[in-house]
Amino acid sequence: MIVVLKPNISKKDEAAVLKEIRKLGYRPHVMRGIERVVVGAIGDERTHQSLETLVSWPQVERVMPVQKRYKLISREGQTNNSVVPVRDIPIGGKKFQVMAGPCSVESESQLMTTALAVKKAGATILRGGAFKPRTSPYEFQGLGEKGLKLLAKARRETGLAVITELLSEQHASMVAEYTDIIQIGARNSQNFQLLIAAAKTGKPVLLKRGLSMRIEEWLLAGEYVLSNNNANLMFCERGIRTFENYTRNTLDLSAIPIIKNESHCPMIIDPSQGAGRADLVVSLCKGAVAMGADGLLIEVHPNPAEAWSDGAQQLTLEGFARLMEGLKPFIAAAGRE
Ligand code: PEP
Ligand code: MN
Repeated sequence: MIVVLKPNISKKDEAAVLKEIRKLGYRPHVMRGIERVVVGAIGDERTHQSLETLVSWPQVERVMPVQKRYKLISREGQTNNSVVPVRDIPIGGKKFQVMAGPCSVESESQLMTTALAVKKAGATILRGGAFKPRTSPYEFQGLGEKGLKLLAKARRETGLAVITELLSEQHASMVAEYTDIIQIGARNSQNFQLLIAAAKTGKPVLLKRGLSMRIEEWLLAGEYVLSNNNANLMFCERGIRTFENYTRNTLDLSAIPIIKNESHCPMIIDPSQGAGRADLVVSLCKGAVAMGADGLLIEVHPNPAEAWSDGAQQLTLEGFARLMEGLKPFIAAAGRE
């Protein structure tokens, strides 16, 4: 921590601050300028008691952290990329992975038709919400366990791995029984007890970015998973809320190089929630590949016009197949397979 003292304070006031810094377990390193004194408090900020309370002292102007607040998730702790194993599918390695499927699981025929089509087009993981986080309580809430059973059936019959959202701690073991990846949704990305429960299932966790979440908060939320003995975390950018209303959210593609710089965990892009518009999905996917994402999470429906949720943003089966073809040169240009 850096502690900046107010200008022209007395020696006695300065000494009191240095004494407090030592008391908190840090070694003060005094830098004397012409007008003011700056103190470097040397020690591990993450394990020592915080010095931040010093800002309330009358002789202190500012206290600034030097170290980052996250540790296990950080590139500083692990320089090589983490590769998350989802059954036999590596996420974060050379192979670019695509997860696709409907926003919500609606019926066996809807799910099976979509699963077969996305597999044929090259997806390796089937998405589908069984527990849906809906803004209104009057909207379709998902099929619950019945939806999970349909996902498990689609997995058995197609060989695709499955990703689905966990909404509540009380469903953690049930959801983990049916899925290969636990999705933590945007609305729950700082529900720390839910993150801990997801981590403890031992399943890989995909952590969406919250609606108004700063990247540091997102990294710290991810730290909850790693610090609860689950190394298999993926980040998923899905757009943040801004003033813009041509799109449902503003997909922050700049988060890709930032997350890849700060963390060793894979980065997935969800252009469907990101734009809320099917016509923008292709361009956003191309941008995501070019900017270094490790995979995509895309909503696909046999008949988006009749979808029970998020119809406007879901690709048709044919649209998804065209997208996968169109992405090939981008994937190759990004040095991926
Ligand atoms: C979803 O993937 O369907 C979903 C609800 O996502 P988010 O949490 O990003 O809104
Ligand atoms: Mn959706």
